[in-house]
Amino acid sequence: MQVVKTAQDVRGLRWADPTLTWGLVPTMGALHEGHLSLVRRARAENDRVGVSIFVNPIQFNRQDDLDAYPRDLERDAELLAAEGVDLIWTPSNTEMYPPDFQTYVSVETMTAGLEGAARPGHFRGVTTVVAKLFNVFQPTRAYFGQKDAQQAAVIRQMVRDLAFNLDIIVCPIVREPDGLAMSSRNVRLGPEARQAALVLFRALNAARSAWENGCRDGDRLRDTMRAVIAAEPLARLDYVSAAHPVTLQEIEGETEQVLLSMAVFIGDVRLIDNMVLKTGAVE
Ligand code: AMP
Repeated sequence: MQVVKTAQDVRGLRWADPTLTWGLVPTMGALHEGHLSLVRRARAENDRVGVSIFVNPIQFNRQDDLDAYPRDLERDAELLAAEGVDLIWTPSNTEMYPPDFQTYVSVETMTAGLEGAARPGHFRGVTTVVAKLFNVFQPTRAYFGQKDAQQAAVIRQMVRDLAFNLDIIVCPIVREPDGLAMSSRNVRLGPEARQAALVLFRALNAARSAWENGCRDGDRLRDTMRAVIAAEPLARLDYVSAAHPVTLQEIEGETEQVLLSMAVFIGDVRLIDNMVLKTGAVE
């Protein structure tokens, strides 16, 4: 496994043998089983696997969130070595954003709501960095988690719109045994907050039960989730959504498929979770 910093080194290794397929897993580090599930899928589907680790400053809209973001490169490298990863790319801030940097990628309509509304500028930061990662690395396939459902949809849109030459693979959410979606931010939860954080999955499951009992109405699904979150004293709702899984438009009236999603503050830690429901099938 090689650990490299510069775009030039990445290109040299990636194109050493142009006949080999490469999977890229973009991450911000502080790796957990969710990230490793992407790495394993990439390992299974490609000749070589690269993982980028870059805490992208321009996608954070709060300086305190950026400062508090966990970083542990040594541990990350050990985990990735054990998964048979070929290349770790840890670009510096100045490599990604040199002082005269002034070009941004922005996906429009579908970034207006949800995380885009709650975190102004977030997706512009995400699509800009992911476009640059793709241009440098030129992977055959890139792997993202359904945990960040809007991000996955936005990146698919960007790849379609700008004709990036790669496949986007979206992998299921990996959860702790009690249902909490794995997240690098979970390490910031104290014991009480960790317990309270289960409210996200509880709210999604309440909406799923309603769905299984025939509820197809956007407002009722949103209300069901809101009620569960309101009952948890340590939780403060940021937003709750029942939207179309591809367009991300909020469902008004009835639907045959829905992306349920939410962002909830537990103390000062902001957590997100989601679930896709379809008539006849649950994902
Ligand atoms: P991050 O390091 O938080 O930017 O995440 C890197 C990638 O891992 C993103 O594509 C995330 O959606 C994905 N990811 C994070 N947590 C999970 C999880 N619990 N299950 C599946 N994928 C995840």
